[in-house]
Amino acid sequence: MRHVIGVRAATDGLAVGVVDGKRVTGPIRRYPEGESRSDPFVQMPAESYGDLLRREIEQTAAGTEIAAIGVGMPGIIRNGVIEESPNLEQMKGLNLHALLSAAFPATAILILNDADALAAGIAATRDELGKVIRVWTLGAGLGFGRYPRIDGIWEAGHCVVTLDPKERFCGCGGLGHLEGILGHRAMRLRFMDLEPEEIFQQAMEGDERCRSFANLWHRALAGATASSIHLDGPGKFYVSGPNAKFVETGLLHVFLHEMVKMSTLQGSYFEVIPTPDEIAIIGAGVNAVA
Ligand SMILES: [Zn+2]
Repeated sequence: MRHVIGVRAATDGLAVGVVDGKRVTGPIRRYPEGESRSDPFVQMPAESYGDLLRREIEQTAAGTEIAAIGVGMPGIIRNGVIEESPNLEQMKGLNLHALLSAAFPATAILILNDADALAAGIAATRDELGKVIRVWTLGAGLGFGRYPRIDGIWEAGHCVVTLDPKERFCGCGGLGHLEGILGHRAMRLRFMDLEPEEIFQQAMEGDERCRSFANLWHRALAGATASSIHLDGPGKFYVSGPNAKFVETGLLHVFLHEMVKMSTLQGSYFEVIPTPDEIAIIGAGVNAVA
């Protein structure tokens, strides 16, 4: 039997599994193994990273023939090349498709953005393959995924949500970006004295500075979503990633409603979902065979 391999290649580690239809069969292989909170790839040269990825895929396949490999990875990915990788800069320019093709010559290989993989995984596991799925991933940076995938850049995490020139905390250096307000690193830069968890805790307790930031945070996400609605139509937006736990869904809906008024564009809504590796692995695999 020929297997489909899905890979979630996140900044904090790899997760690899065999995808059969809409599920992962067998155990998910992880690198590094066990609990590790450090950034395992920051010091790793791109070639070593490619070798590691190849080995993990080989070990997951365990000697069976591989029909297709899908790899979801953060950054701008075009034609199998990592064109931009803000959190792992050494990967910029790496032709991952060529590297994996050399190792697995008879295999269909797709390298795609990790948020797009997640969107495909959500569509597959929720029987929504016929619909347009959009997902925000809230972590160190901001990811935006869409299913079905369409060609383009789609760096919606860097869309401009404020014209205030003091809003300069985005990791890319651009002013007024969504990530500059919602990104984990950006929040730590803004509040030198508080961790993001403490900001939202104190906002809940009524601290004025934290409450006003929490409102800005939700307004920014609603604003970027409203822009997506005005460009790509209304629909369902999933919010995922480690910082999705800060989302107050009701507040998001209120702000979004203030921003989208045309009657034909009504009817969008948000759902917060956890981010198990499994959904991203399935999505990468689903896209690789599509
Ligand atoms: Zn930016």
